[in-house]
Parts: sequence; structure tokens; C-alpha cells
Amino acid sequence: MSIYDKYEAVIGLECHIQLLTHTKMYSNDLAEYGALPNTNVSVVSLGHPGTLPMVNKRAVEFAVRLGIAVNATIRKENQFARKNYFYADLPKGYQITQDKTPICNGGYIIAKLKDGIEKQVNLTRIHMEEDAGKSLHDIDPFETLVDLNRAGTPLLEIVTEPDLRSGEEAYAYLTEVRKLVRYLDICDGNMEEGSLRCDANISVRLKGETAFGKKVEVKNMNSFRNVQRAIDFEIKRQIDVIENGEPIAGETRSFDAVNGSTFTLRSKENANDYRYFPEPDLLPVLVTSDYIEKVKASLPVLPSVLFKTYTEEYKLSDYDATQLTELKEVSAYYNELVKHTTNYKGAANWMLGTVRSYMNERAMTIKEFAMPPATLAEIIALVDAQKVSVSAAQQRLFPAMVETPGATAEEMAQKLDLLQNSDAGELGAMVDAVLAKMPEKVAEYRGGKVGLLGMFVGQVMGMSKGKADPKVVNQLVKEKLDKA
Ligand code: ADP
Ligand code: MG
Repeated sequence: MSIYDKYEAVIGLECHIQLLTHTKMYSNDLAEYGALPNTNVSVVSLGHPGTLPMVNKRAVEFAVRLGIAVNATIRKENQFARKNYFYADLPKGYQITQDKTPICNGGYIIAKLKDGIEKQVNLTRIHMEEDAGKSLHDIDPFETLVDLNRAGTPLLEIVTEPDLRSGEEAYAYLTEVRKLVRYLDICDGNMEEGSLRCDANISVRLKGETAFGKKVEVKNMNSFRNVQRAIDFEIKRQIDVIENGEPIAGETRSFDAVNGSTFTLRSKENANDYRYFPEPDLLPVLVTSDYIEKVKASLPVLPSVLFKTYTEEYKLSDYDATQLTELKEVSAYYNELVKHTTNYKGAANWMLGTVRSYMNERAMTIKEFAMPPATLAEIIALVDAQKVSVSAAQQRLFPAMVETPGATAEEMAQKLDLLQNSDAGELGAMVDAVLAKMPEKVAEYRGGKVGLLGMFVGQVMGMSKGKADPKVVNQLVKEKLDKA
């Protein structure tokens, strides 16, 4: 047993998600990404004297959406608070956030681990706040530049209980968070662009110990993979420190993606005292039960519910169900598709095989994929009825139908001469003709050289110019040879 096996890691995540509202959290400035620096900055965002913030209704709705989706308790009276600190990208000198009265408490997200194991990750709270601006260190060689466009854009912070035990679990949890916020249309979930950010709190303790160890916070991971790497590194580092007989320093560390290691940013000892106090310029936001019901009614079917339908009702594998529920647009397409076919597995195979490759080759998303689900269902039906072979359907009929919409699948198959012959009478005559042409081979087959079967089938396929249904031919040849 290695020393590492004696320990258990304890991890809690704090995620910030940037909301897809048109305007900022407390002002009418546009909250768009990628605008020219410092163009979406009004006096309200700058907190000039005499200006007053107002709460963005849409951001509150988004918070309630998320709260409902994770089964949280939603607070009726929401107070905002000022968190004071000085930094160049914080124009007001304080951030308006929620302190003692987060809009959501409790709730959970189910993370899917390897081998179908599900892990319930409990949430502590979700609160509304505004983002700071952005310090740009890599544009001017001597100065740090500041872009305040982001200052004031709406965020939700999702804080988990210390329920996670490994980098892999954190990765799985984040995957579910991203999927969920995308389904809810509240955040684009793009970690590389910074619209989903995550800090990890990590400690270790001896297995069997009930008290938590001292935690270290790790920041600056720009992908799920890097969150996992940072956590795995940090767990090992902390165990090494303890095994060396040293204490864990309470600190904030940063992740270096190149080395895969973490390094000290600042000690918690000289941490800021934020001097929180209730925001005097905002009245509490009241969330009524009626309002919550209204928002609830507007929610889409959640991916976890779809997953259950796909696996339990449609009998798809966990893998297929996971792939199909990854994006709302993909599951929406599949949901339409299965209104037109009961071949659920076939429908999944088409979407995850031929359709996906077609889109990948063209760098296309499902939104740009023009074939109506009903048309794809027609193709599936032709294959199921053995009127078109799978390969002809995938390689010829499908692309032709995408490129020339309008025709039915059957018309197109006819036009492309793909309709296969599975008429036993007609094919039987061809089989007879082939067998009659090669009596010595037939004798050899009957003498025990059963490997010749494929050759006979090939002959019949050739005679049919490739249009015979190979399954039917195979069966007919075998029957006729075995009969005598
Ligand atoms: P802080 O006061 O430093 O902000 P919180 O108690 O608010 O700490 O917790 C912040 C995050 O750290 C939460 O996700 C929580 O689950 C997690 N956390 C708290 N204590 C520990 C611990 N000992 N080890 C790992 N994570 C922890
Ligand atoms: Mg805290």
C-alpha cells in the first residue's frame, strides 16, 4: 500500500457562470462578449456619485431557473450586499453580491462517474452577483490595461458542499453543470472564453477521519481537464507535505497548466476583510411562489429526465443516452425523430454515426443541419424494410437527401437506383441460374467445401447489379444448396 492510499481527499467547488442576459446585472449596459474595450461602460457601471443600480429581472429569472432545476430552496426575500475591496478592474471599489441571503440554498447535482456510478453532489448555495472588469497583462509590454466591459455583467456563483473526493468526480460534476446551464439557456458554458469559471477547495485527511483537513483554494484553471489535473496534483502535494511532518498552509494557489502543478498566489493570513454590508441602493428582490411556478412551467425537459427516458423506455445504452443528451439541440432532434420511428436504437445509431460524421466533416452544428427528422425517419424505415441496404443508405441516399431536399426517401432511392431487390421469387430465379452455371462448384460445396457459399452469393449480387438484398440472397443460396 502506498502512502497515498492512507489518505482521502475532500473537495468543494465554487463555480461562476456568466449569464446570457442582454444587459448587465445592475445597469442597462450591454453584456455582450467581444465588444471593443471600454465601450459598454456607463456611469452606473462605474458607480459615479448620484447613480443608482437596478436589478436585472432576467438575471433573477435565470437564478430561479437554475434553483428549480437543482431542487434548491428558493429564497423569497433577496437582499444584496456590498463586498468591498480595491483592485484596478473594480471601478466602484466594491462588488454588489449576495452575502447572508443567497437566492438558492441546498439542492444537488448528480455527477455520472465511470461504470454508470452516480454521485450526488450537494449544493450549499447559489447567489447572484456582478463580475469585475478584466486586467489585460499581455497587450502592452510595460503596462497593465483594463477593459471594463465585463464590469457589472451578471454571474451566478454555485457553491458545493465538500462532497467531492477526486479530480475525476470534479470533472464529472462540472460536465453536468455545463450541460444543465446550457439546457436552461442561462449560460453558454464556455470555459475557454471564461463564461464558466471554477475554483477548487481541496484538503486531505486520513481515511476514517471525520474532521476535515486544512483547505487550499486553487484558481485559474481554464478547462475541465485542468481542474482535474490541478486537484490531482494538489492532493498529492498535500499528502507529501503532511508525510514530511509539515502543516498545510491555508492559502490560495494558482494552476500552471504547462507543468501541471500549483504554486502559491497568496496566504489566507493576509486575506482581505471585505466589510460586507447590505447594499443601501437596492431594495430586496421579492420572489413569490406564483413567480416560481411560472418559471417552473417554462423549463425545458432536463437532460437527467431525458437520460432516464432514453435508457429505460427506449432501452438505449448509457453511452448512447449520454451522447444524445449532451446538447439540447441534439436531444431535441432525437425526440422529434422518435416521433416518426420506433426503431429507437436505429435512430440513435444514425444520429451518432452518419449524421454526426456528416456534420463533423463540414464543421456544422445540429442547428445548421437542415434535414427534417421526419425525412431521416423515412430513410431509417427504408432500411428497416430492407428496401435499401444500410451502406447505400448511409453513403448515397443520406447525402443526396441532405443536398436535395424535397423528395421523399423512396423517390430519391428510386432515382439513384438504390432500391434493392428482396423479392424471393425473382432472386430465387437468379440463384437457380447461378447454380446451374457452375455444377462442379455446387458438387464441391455439397462435398463439404462450405466456404464456397460467399462466392455463390457474390455471383448472384453481380447478376443483380448489386441491388439484391444480400441477406435474402444468402439465405436463398444456402437453402437451395442444402436442399438436394
Ligand atoms: P471560505 O470561508 O474560505 O469561503 P467556505 O466554507 O465558504 O470557505 O467554503 C468554500 C468552499 O470550500 C465550499 O465549496 C466548501 O464546500 C469547500 N470547503 C470547505 N471546507 C473544506 C475543506 N476542509 N476541504 C475542502 N473543501 C472545503
Ligand atoms: Mg465562502
